[in-house]
Amino acid sequence: MTARRYLIAGNWKMHCRRADGTALAIDLATRVGAKADPRFDLVLCPPATIVAAVAHGVAGSAVAVGGQDCHAEIQGAHTGDVAAEMLADVGASHVIVGHSERRTNHGETSAQVQAKAAAALRAGLTAIVCVGETEGERDAGRAETVVAEQLATSIPAGATAGNCVVAYEPVWAIGTGRTPTLADIAAMHAMIRGRLSGLVEQPDAVRILYGGSVKPGNAAEILAVADVDGALVGGASLKADDFWGIAQAC
Ligand code: PGA
Repeated sequence: MTARRYLIAGNWKMHCRRADGTALAIDLATRVGAKADPRFDLVLCPPATIVAAVAHGVAGSAVAVGGQDCHAEIQGAHTGDVAAEMLADVGASHVIVGHSERRTNHGETSAQVQAKAAAALRAGLTAIVCVGETEGERDAGRAETVVAEQLATSIPAGATAGNCVVAYEPVWAIGTGRTPTLADIAAMHAMIRGRLSGLVEQPDAVRILYGGSVKPGNAAEILAVADVDGALVGGASLKADDFWGIAQAC
């Protein structure tokens, strides 16, 4: 039994316009109600354009809202970027940093991810720091080495169990319908838990999420793995019934 509450985070990626995103958020907020379920917390991470609308939609409920990325600086000449403070300003309490799609498509290094995570903390947001190996790295037997290295270089100074969440997302499991074996998930999460001492205050209380092809059908077995404290959900977070089904597996 873990004393950590589960966290189920929905990463909407570049999906949803204001109308359908708000409707999805209100649907989930209605199911959750004003008081958080004793088993889990829910966070919705819509695209930046509708963070404000989604935050407005879930206001008064226990559902939280997060961004999908932030810039390391408070403000400045950074066309197209969004500061962590701007996300906080419109009602976000969380932000995902270092998602593999950012690391791959935008060439983000762990040093940049760490600076973004530090910005999240500065803005009073909880940083959801993503790490994960590629298929080639796993095949080469390097998965744990790669993830340990990402962890050590991506977690910011001042991280605590209260302001930092780790999401382990094997790159090859994202959007593919493939998942690691439960034993592989357990081994990776145990490794991450061990490495958190020295990086984070209260390492035993930090929530470590698994992400990559989580759906209602596999959520229960994944969430039952030791040191899995929740899920970062992409595709299955876009349908209220699927996302809610995953939360109900907690
Ligand atoms: P997926 O995405 O659930 O669609 O595999 C997870 C993620 O990228 O966070």
